[in-house]
Amino acid sequence: MGIQFDIPTATMKSVQFNPDVSKKPHLVHCDVPKVTNPKEVLLKVIAAGVCGTDIHIIHGSYPSRKGVILGHELAGVVVDCGSEVTTLKPGDRVVCNPNRGCGCCNLCKVGRYNLCKKESSASTVGIFRDGGFAEYCKVGESDLMKIYDEIPLLFAPLCEPLSCVVNSWHHVEPVAAGARIAILGAGIIGNLYASLFYFRGYRNVVVSEINESRIEICKSMGTGFEILSPATIGGQLEKGSRQPFNLIIDTSGNAKAIEAAFEWLDIGAKFCAFGIPNPAHKIEIRPHILVGKEIQVVGSMAECQTFPEAVDLFQAMYEAGRIVPEKLGVKIFNLEQHEEAFQALASGEISKALFSISDELKN
Ligand SMILES: [Zn+2]
Ligand SMILES: [Zn+2]
Repeated sequence: MGIQFDIPTATMKSVQFNPDVSKKPHLVHCDVPKVTNPKEVLLKVIAAGVCGTDIHIIHGSYPSRKGVILGHELAGVVVDCGSEVTTLKPGDRVVCNPNRGCGCCNLCKVGRYNLCKKESSASTVGIFRDGGFAEYCKVGESDLMKIYDEIPLLFAPLCEPLSCVVNSWHHVEPVAAGARIAILGAGIIGNLYASLFYFRGYRNVVVSEINESRIEICKSMGTGFEILSPATIGGQLEKGSRQPFNLIIDTSGNAKAIEAAFEWLDIGAKFCAFGIPNPAHKIEIRPHILVGKEIQVVGSMAECQTFPEAVDLFQAMYEAGRIVPEKLGVKIFNLEQHEEAFQALASGEISKALFSISDELKN
């Protein structure tokens, strides 16, 4: 793109979290990281997304490295490359796949790095390695994917949650044409999933949600899908005014919602557990349903080798008007507004907070 990128030498703004120092993340001025390894790349971060996982980290219910720069959904422009980097050059527009297991355990060796339990300072960007809530971020060449020129860098961090949706999609496909589908929860994952179903021609989709702001956001997406409370859906099924579902995707992680939804499944249906539940919560189901209806239950954890497909899908859905960030409930903040951004996301008032970190090149 004909722009020269100077390698910065001054300090940079970052949002770091260290529970030993404070229960809240803080804006810290720190040194710009330097490329020291031949396979490393320095990014000028243009935008980074705040995710429910960041809220869990702050609440202490998800592990992270103390003092880490948060932000595992990030997009930017390459400014410096190690001597052995061959696939990228300064000026390239990229999105980061933050997920990398230890690389050594058997799960990692068969490519299931999303299930690796040996987290270390070498694993997930923005959780164990320093992440994207900063003006610059140093990652590995293999963590980055080039993106299409048509995808604005400001919105490109959404490729990360979309890659998780794609992973779940692979667990539930094939989905028959005309399938009756329920999505539990209208956060960003539920909304992206609803958009994907619409994009792929499914129209018989119901979204189950109780948060008023989320209901409004979901309506504004213009899919025409019904958005109802779980009590209403349950009541309709009991009365027989609604047919049971062929596929239910839980994005809420809410044990009560999951428990209720097992009664909504039709013969031969699939249930996909995708939202991350509280590890201590339990549910009661009638196992008779599983046998008598030949139900398939599948779990889906984050992203697994689905990032390239997510980048292509993002491009296709963006061009088709099925990823319109404002309609999905995305709101833009700057790093100084980090407290406000975390708060707005935690309350459900928005579905995704994006930090716009640099005003240059965001389109
Ligand atoms: Zn996330
Ligand atoms: Zn591993």
